[in-house]
Amino acid sequence: MKKNKKLVTILVPAYNEQDVLNMLYDRLKTIMDNLSNYDFEVLLVNDGSKDDTLKIMKDLRLKDSRICYLNLSRNYGKETAMIAGLDYAKGDCVIIIDADLQDPPELIPDMLTYWEEGYDDVYAKRKSRKGESFLKKFTSKMYYKTLQSITNIEIQKDTGDFRLLDRRCVEALKAIRESQRYTKGLFSWIGYNKKEILFDRDPRAAGQTKWNYGKLINLSIDGLTSFTTAPLRWAAIMGILVSLAGFIYMLAIIIKTLIYGIDVPGYSSTMVVILFLGGIQLIFLGVIGEYLGRTFNETKSRPLYFIERYNEEKETNEMLNKR
Ligand code: UDP
Ligand code: MG
Repeated sequence: MKKNKKLVTILVPAYNEQDVLNMLYDRLKTIMDNLSNYDFEVLLVNDGSKDDTLKIMKDLRLKDSRICYLNLSRNYGKETAMIAGLDYAKGDCVIIIDADLQDPPELIPDMLTYWEEGYDDVYAKRKSRKGESFLKKFTSKMYYKTLQSITNIEIQKDTGDFRLLDRRCVEALKAIRESQRYTKGLFSWIGYNKKEILFDRDPRAAGQTKWNYGKLINLSIDGLTSFTTAPLRWAAIMGILVSLAGFIYMLAIIIKTLIYGIDVPGYSSTMVVILFLGGIQLIFLGVIGEYLGRTFNETKSRPLYFIERYNEEKETNEMLNKR
């Protein structure tokens, strides 16, 4: 009988989350105990935390055998913690959820219902975002709008990583070994049947957000450069326009000189042209550099992460090679 039950993996990336892990476990436990039609595995990924997160994970595993933990060799960032978790998840489906209880675990039964109806990717869309600053909401809105307008794939607005993924989505994501990952875009890129459910996003239960504007800007640039080469196209178009304008200006100067003779003053116009062209050149050098850097990072094709420990076992190199 037990064999027929489907296994559901709940994947939790955690970085310095000692204040919330126990709370998270309590909420998850209630839900898991109520859903007796499924077997559960809670895979906690410790992303190089500097506090007692790992210890709490170990204690939880002693208490409840459904808990597994994965200890990364250092802090790699949430994107990498997620792919590491997906690599180790055993479930027929994987539910990714933040450790800080901003994503209510109470949505899990609904997600499972839709999964049973045949959806492969059930994602939770935020109706509201409590406890987040106006600036954060505004910038995130503008960013999604821009990203959407220049990429072909559909980027889901107001959607985090809180979602249920069928095994085949998980395999698809695992097949993508980009090191500068922008998972939010990858979810759309892989396709499959998607279903949206709405929820109110709660403020963080305890602890602090790991995101600052610097990290967010980096993630935004990764999002742009990993899904579109449009900025390179802009560079080309801008180049054509500017040289066209330059050509017209040149003709004007030649004609003017032929008719009125040489007039020496021209300091301000020269400066304007030099500064303007210099600025444009620098900006687009930066754009090209951005893509070149990406290419450089991807061609190194290093492993995405190293595992210090999976549950009680220390990961050895042979085990790593097998994956
Ligand atoms: N996280 C992680 N590694 C990091 C930063 C964050 O695994 O380097 C995890 C974190 O523990 C949490 C989730 O990613 O479970 C979301 O982080 P956070 O709540 O700080 O982001 P926010 O909700 O403010 O966007
Ligand atoms: Mg959070």
